[in-house]
Amino acid sequence: MKFSWKTVLLWTLPALVIGFFLWQGSFATAPANMGRNAASTRMTYGRFLEYLDANRVVSVDLYEGGRTAIVEAVDPELDNRLQRLRVDLPGNAPELLTRLRTAKINFNVHPVRNDGAIWGLLGNLVFPLLLIGGLFLLFRRSSNIPGGPGQAMNFGKSRARFQMEAKTGVMFDDVAGIDEAKEELQEVVSFLKKPEKFTAVGARIPKGVLLVGPPGTGKTLLAKAIAGEAGVPFFSISGSEFVEMFVGVGASRVRDLFKKAKENAPCIVFIDEIDAVGRQRGAGIGGGNDEREQTLNQLLTEMDGFEGNTGVIIIAATNRPDVLDAALLRPGRFDRQVTVDAPDIKGRLEVLNVHARNKKLAPEISLDAIARRTPGFSGADLANLLNEAAILTARRRKDAITMAEIDDAVDRVVAGMEGTPLVDSKSKRLIAYHEIGHAIIGTLVKGHDPVQKVTLIPRGQARGLTWFMPSDDQSLISRAQILARITGALGGRAAEEVIFGDAEVTTGAGNDLQQVTNMARQMVTRFGMSNLGPLSLESQQGEVFLGRDWLTRSDYSEEIAARIDAQVRSIVEHCYDDARQIIRDNREVIDRLVDLLIEKETIDGEEFRQIVAEYTDIPEKERYTPQL
Ligand code: ADP
Ligand code: ZN
Repeated sequence: MKFSWKTVLLWTLPALVIGFFLWQGSFATAPANMGRNAASTRMTYGRFLEYLDANRVVSVDLYEGGRTAIVEAVDPELDNRLQRLRVDLPGNAPELLTRLRTAKINFNVHPVRNDGAIWGLLGNLVFPLLLIGGLFLLFRRSSNIPGGPGQAMNFGKSRARFQMEAKTGVMFDDVAGIDEAKEELQEVVSFLKKPEKFTAVGARIPKGVLLVGPPGTGKTLLAKAIAGEAGVPFFSISGSEFVEMFVGVGASRVRDLFKKAKENAPCIVFIDEIDAVGRQRGAGIGGGNDEREQTLNQLLTEMDGFEGNTGVIIIAATNRPDVLDAALLRPGRFDRQVTVDAPDIKGRLEVLNVHARNKKLAPEISLDAIARRTPGFSGADLANLLNEAAILTARRRKDAITMAEIDDAVDRVVAGMEGTPLVDSKSKRLIAYHEIGHAIIGTLVKGHDPVQKVTLIPRGQARGLTWFMPSDDQSLISRAQILARITGALGGRAAEEVIFGDAEVTTGAGNDLQQVTNMARQMVTRFGMSNLGPLSLESQQGEVFLGRDWLTRSDYSEEIAARIDAQVRSIVEHCYDDARQIIRDNREVIDRLVDLLIEKETIDGEEFRQIVAEYTDIPEKERYTPQL
């Protein structure tokens, strides 16, 4: 899962959940380069014409004003399987369109996409245009305004660096699955609406609220909803925009922002990624960063400066509250913290309900089933999922989203774009054994999530994928389950080694091994699941970040460190032995499954289990129990 899931180490548990979702053989391939319509394989124009003659072309999608086409063609040598190929066309070719029409080939012309050539062109124009525009302004100002050019040189003034929305149009109803956060913020809304009610009884109004949570969980949305509910303007800026190359610019931006906000009070000021400015002062490699510190100081001064009840409420968002400067969190500043977590299954259902409002769903669709299939998805991921499904539906010319589109969209959101299948070759066989290795162990080891499907159709970076059905409750995971997962994740490499020999194992297991090591290490250092006893030796993953201390101090001696390493190794070795044994013991069924997989490209979980059951008579899930 090209864990497009941004690595937010703080939320290790959701991260674990997602990690368990599938193992991939990430035989790294070059990413496709044409956005959503990517077809990674190219074909020459000449070849395309030959294909046309041979009636192999099914549909043609023209892009970039007819300079590129994505062609869907059938391959008679591979049972007429559809291939998607990318063709560079020789400029505008009107006769091609006539030809497509007479051959009755489905074709479609797409408007120039935003990320297409036009941007490149604009990109080239932007700088000269800016320069000319800037000179023009400079000239006009210096001629109109008494005081001359001095004023125009006031470049610290940050016009248009923050956005203002008079009405966000977002309401609490649009934010789903984070009820506790909503409840806590309800109070801010009532204050903005009726400040007298609070001031009359002498209550001090909160000035700053810090929303803490991983990306995409709806923090921005929530801040907008507060403004929307209260009917006040919404100012927003991202912390990274404060931090500029020139010393003093950031501070002047802060001043500017607050000036505007006070003029428009009551209002909401939203600062995204506040950790970009708000990191602990004097930290990082080589001491502090002057510019950032000045900006932060200015922010603190502004927050203290306006007396309690000006009606400006600052909402900031971060996923790293731990790196923030303590001064920011003091009373009178961001003294309230509201956690906005990735939604649980109920929350996911609510988010899906919100985003399904404006979509046409076929009656058979169960949002509940989608919520169950998507542990670890954030609100933004879910919104994206439904949107992808809608796009697929339109492409397939259906009038309502069906489960088929949802399934494809989940796959796409989790693992990336689908690529063209490999032709049969030794490496395809190896990938097939690798994936079947994951799947067979997932099926035979007790405590492992069941296989949902195994496929050799590449997606994103992965050349083959084994999907598992996550069980309902992913928040509590037992030791046996983790061991099962480690064994399953090692199944790919184990199969490569047992079948092809030690010398032939590939880099395809790299990703698996990373997850394996991670899980094993966490068992020892965080969850007290080894012979070191129930100790928490690392509060989080011991990553080095530059916000606080350059060297993170470990809480244990070198002797313990050595024991941790030994334990991690012993867990992994043990599981690897098990995995290889299972592969050896089940060679016959594995060979059959691999042949089937190469023939069919995808085997679904039900069929997979049926075939396995033909070869083993021990009841399912009672077969191997990982033990240490
Ligand atoms: P954050 O600021 O936490 O990174 P955003 O608020 O920018 O996340 O979320 C991005 C988009 O994802 C939103 O515009 C919305 O469409 C969707 N989304 C995220 N969380 C939720 C939620 N809890 N309820 C409804 N939609 C959500
Ligand atoms: Zn793998």
